[in-house]
This record gives sequence, structure tokens and C-alpha cells, in this order.
Amino acid sequence: MTEADILILFDIDGTLLSPGKGARNALSQAIEEVLEEPVKIERGFCAGKTDPMIIANFLTKAGCMHEEFPLLLKLISKRYLELLEEKYTAFDDGFMYPGIQELLDELMMHGNIYLALLTGNLEKGARIKLEPYGLNDYLPVGAFGDDGFMRTDLPRVALQRSEIFYDMKFEPSNIVVFGDTADDVTCGKLLHARTIAVVRNPSLEELIISSKPDHVFKNTEDTDLLISAIMNN
Ligand SMILES: [Mg+2]
Repeated sequence: MTEADILILFDIDGTLLSPGKGARNALSQAIEEVLEEPVKIERGFCAGKTDPMIIANFLTKAGCMHEEFPLLLKLISKRYLELLEEKYTAFDDGFMYPGIQELLDELMMHGNIYLALLTGNLEKGARIKLEPYGLNDYLPVGAFGDDGFMRTDLPRVALQRSEIFYDMKFEPSNIVVFGDTADDVTCGKLLHARTIAVVRNPSLEELIISSKPDHVFKNTEDTDLLISAIMNN
């Protein structure tokens, strides 16, 4: 019997890698420059949100008028991407999580497994974040923060793009959404996909569990265990 074709949609931050201070600084500086107000982005605030939504939160906090949002979003996004390019690797505290390289390499060995992104990052930001780890080649397609304001806008886009890119049709039972927040799990449920969550931040564990992922892992170090969850063995 031939094995079913499986599509895996990966989140980036907190799932594949920890972006470190550079990314947070780039975003806070971009918002500060455009709004001319000091901004502090708490660690964990961005988890599960799209970049436009994170920025919009600060616009609301600063009392910006709704009519101004589209222009401000555009200005801040543009500046953020410039600063991210400059600052991303400047602090040396970002890293790819243990086991991710091994997992992706192993998945690439399977002819029936296809990889894509489902991330709230703006596409250019996603590419900047993945580049130092050589991960862009593994994840050539996906849905990004440019594709919708809400994370829940993204799963359909990710699936459609992946099906066009790989010229395949994926059954819901053969789609896996892999992330580190309850929002990722919710996105998977929208596609009736299998959901795998890794708990990187213990304070999110309860929320993740209550979103009822099919599999929950404490880390990504046991490649065999992850593969068997992905393959539904
Ligand atoms: Mg994440």
C-alpha cells in the first residue's frame, strides 16, 4: 500500500526557533519611530498573534484613530522589516530549538511528506528569521501575516498555496499543524487537521491543553516520537 501524502504546516517563533531580542527590538523601535512614543513589548506578548495584529494592539493603546490604522500599519511594517534585517542576528541570543534540524532532515527523507509555513510573521520577516538557520529551503511556501489580520484567516490560505505549489490535494486527516500556542491548535482545528503542540513556555501549557491538540510535547528532541505523531502511527 502506498503511504498517504502528508502536509505539515509549521509555525516559526517558539516552534522552530527562538528569535531573540533582535526581533523584538526591531518591532518596538519601528513602532516608536512612527508613533513617536516609547513602546515596550513584553516577552510572550507576540505569541500566536499576526504581526499586523501586534502592531494594531499598540496603535489602539496609543489612541490612534481607526482611519489611520492602514497607513500606520504600512509604515511600521516597512520600518520593522528594515530594522529586522539589520538587528536580527545582532544580539546573538536567537537559536533554533534542539531537534528541529534533525526533525526537518528526517521529514525531507520521506517522499510523501510536504512542508509549509503557517505563521503570523510578515513573509519577508519570516524569511529573515529562517535564513540564518538555512530553513527557507525546507519551507518554500505558506501563509503569513500579510495574508490576514487574524491568525484564523491563515490556515485556508496555507492549504491552498501548498496544494498549488506541490500540485497535490491533501485530505484533512493528512494535514498536520505544528505550533507552540493554543492559537496554532485552533488554526489546525479549522482545517480539521491533526494538531501537534510543543510547550516551550510553561505559562502557556494550560491554555494549550485546553485547546485540545492531538499531541502535546515538552520539547522537540525525540525525532522518532515526533515522526510517529506526524505519521499518526
Ligand atoms: Mg509561535
